[in-house]
Amino acid sequence: MADVEANQTDDRRAAVTAIDPVCGMTVTIKPESLVAEHDGRTYYFCGAKCRTKFMADPEQYLSPRQAVALPEGVPSGQLGLSSGYVAP
Ligand SMILES: [Zn+2]
Repeated sequence: MADVEANQTDDRRAAVTAIDPVCGMTVTIKPESLVAEHDGRTYYFCGAKCRTKFMADPEQYLSPRQAVALPEGVPSGQLGLSSGYVAP
């Protein structure tokens, strides 16, 4: 005979990851995770660099408009080319 009560913990798996607001990575939430609190929320980061960037300008990474601003037809590769490039 098997007890099935132990299965309850499986439902909690969805709660142990968060999205790094700086780079968009999925971060596993652990006691030693890098976190920052802003506006009453806790954010998780993949590394110290992302956390530092976030702390410098949280609003830049939290703006919801950023996520929906891109038209569907624009390939993301063009964004990578244009960023950091300065025309002569
Ligand atoms: Zn990151």
